[in-house]
Amino acid sequence: MGRGVKKRQAAGAPLPQRRKKRGVRLAVAYALQVLFALLAVLLVALLICGVLYVREHIFSKSNGEDQPNGENFTDTGGGAAWSNPATEAIEAYVVVLDAGHGGVQSGCEFDGVLEKDITLAVTMLAAEKLRAEGVTVILTREDDTDVSLDERCRIANNVGADLFVSIHCNSYTEDTSVSGFEGYYHNGTKGQRLAEYILAAANALGVKTRHVKDANYQVIRDTTMPAALMEIGFLSNPAERARLQTEDYQTTIAQAIADGVLAMKAAG
Ligand SMILES: [Zn+2]
Repeated sequence: MGRGVKKRQAAGAPLPQRRKKRGVRLAVAYALQVLFALLAVLLVALLICGVLYVREHIFSKSNGEDQPNGENFTDTGGGAAWSNPATEAIEAYVVVLDAGHGGVQSGCEFDGVLEKDITLAVTMLAAEKLRAEGVTVILTREDDTDVSLDERCRIANNVGADLFVSIHCNSYTEDTSVSGFEGYYHNGTKGQRLAEYILAAANALGVKTRHVKDANYQVIRDTTMPAALMEIGFLSNPAERARLQTEDYQTTIAQAIADGVLAMKAAG
């Protein structure tokens, strides 16, 4: 106290003015402290973001090579609280569902029933079921629009999907008694397995199935991931056509597709 008084007296300035100046200096010092504190918080936040970014990218890469489906991934360290976002990113399983035809491309048509409407309905139901199981589903169309075959392949290839399933209805006018669910793949054991899993799931749900065959359809040829084209039933067969229009049967077919995809995911 004594020193302060001496100092003030020595400076010789009127007391209120000195006090004001001192107040301003204190305010500036305080503001600087706050600024430094904010900068420190910002640096820490940036550091955390950086660490998370590196973890996510490095782990996704090494995981992708060793364990394609991330099923066996275990956190290799770090705080448990920070490991969750990275783990979720690794486990994202992306499936592209392709509702055949759309817009001006009606597909086959019998008795006013259009293939594009049945394929869209079943695709939307299958997407709902897979999303409920935590699968990331990308649709090539989700309304009555015409999407080119090139574009359907591009969508699947660009997102780097794990699986691709195209959904169509069949027709065989030479013999309208022919019916059943069948699958196609192109040059690849994984595509074949996917089609087989879906048919097996359909079978288990009491659906009449036929066979799995190799075919040169563009959407299963030009897609770079395991791909299957499923002909879910014959619109040329009156009984199957009637079934395919019911929500019950559409739900069963959608369940078979979802089950087959999940079986494929589990098998790796
Ligand atoms: Zn078709």
